[in-house]
Amino acid sequence: MRFLRRHPVALALALAVLVSALVPLPELVDAATGSPVGDAQLTRPFWYVVGAPLSDTLDALTFLSLDRAWWFLGSWIVVLVLVAAVRPGSRWRRGARVLIGLLLPVAFAAAAVLLPRPVPRLVTTLGGVTVLDFHSHTRASHDGRHGWTPEDLARWHRRQGFQGAYVTDHNIPFDQNVPDAVIPLLPGVEWSVYRQHIITLGAVDSFDLSPYSRDTPGMVRLFAALHTQGALAIASLPEYWRNHWDDLDAFVAGGVDGFEIVTCAPKALGFPSNDRRQVVDLARRQDLLVTGASDNHGWGMVTCVWNISQQGAHGFADNQVVARPIALVQGDRPAWSAAYSQLWLMLRGLTWPERVSWLTWIALIAIYRGQPKRKGQVGGIGILARELGRSTLSA
Ligand SMILES: [Zn+2]
Repeated sequence: MRFLRRHPVALALALAVLVSALVPLPELVDAATGSPVGDAQLTRPFWYVVGAPLSDTLDALTFLSLDRAWWFLGSWIVVLVLVAAVRPGSRWRRGARVLIGLLLPVAFAAAAVLLPRPVPRLVTTLGGVTVLDFHSHTRASHDGRHGWTPEDLARWHRRQGFQGAYVTDHNIPFDQNVPDAVIPLLPGVEWSVYRQHIITLGAVDSFDLSPYSRDTPGMVRLFAALHTQGALAIASLPEYWRNHWDDLDAFVAGGVDGFEIVTCAPKALGFPSNDRRQVVDLARRQDLLVTGASDNHGWGMVTCVWNISQQGAHGFADNQVVARPIALVQGDRPAWSAAYSQLWLMLRGLTWPERVSWLTWIALIAIYRGQPKRKGQVGGIGILARELGRSTLSA
């Protein structure tokens, strides 16, 4: 009991890990229907599960929309700095804690973007399908990570279970044979035209974009121009949602081949479920493709979405968009609540092996921190082992 009184934070966290299991989120959902996916699972590497508190937190940070990311960062800095300032201790000690409170959330955000780590991998039991990404970038894009080669991109995809990926750099058609790529890299491009980005699937030549960059009627003529080159045109998020929400019928009339319904870029992750449903209904009525896009630019280790795709996917039923539910649901939560709602969604999505890992880490850290510190005593595994022995004896 004394242990519990001394460690309220550990106790609250352990309770949250357990209580969140009563309202679990499915591992993967079909983004078009919202239902759990039966034919595909995520496998998590051993070290991902061993380090689950870190793995899950960094994943959850990667799946924040831009607004929510700012709120998350700001709120945690304020909370940690305030707690550090009011806790007793010498002035130096409090100063050091305030500094840690300032830097810790920033360090986590940087780790989510840059730290190499084990990642979940999608596996499907379905035959005759390919797990694809329809939208990703290399260093050739103006905003691609420096040094991010097509080979790096292919490795990033394969680690997560992709079997093929379209390379869609900004306004630079990709059509290369990359012999060292670990999965096939498919030809594509992302054109920037009038207040809209258009993902093009298939090999095309560069051409003058100015006729498509003046107004909406001009922009939608791009689709027919791409068809004459044998390519497909997919409307990208967040642009059609932010800039062309009332023009979607014009997109369809102009011959658009499909719409992204999940895009993992922070700017696009705010896309609300209601709007997603409307686009899915439109695509279903018109038999258009719906796609998921990692929109990877070389930053971030995990995707929030995969496509389970039939050969030569062309219509609504040919491609299943499979997403991490946290990435979809978080866009419906108020931005100001990100500091706790993102963590709660993360906990609801844990598998049981991850929950066991969380509880073990919480117990180990609480026991370690509960050690009275004596002069000259070195911390570490020795103390931990002694205390574990004592807890077992007194239990
Ligand atoms: Zn992009």
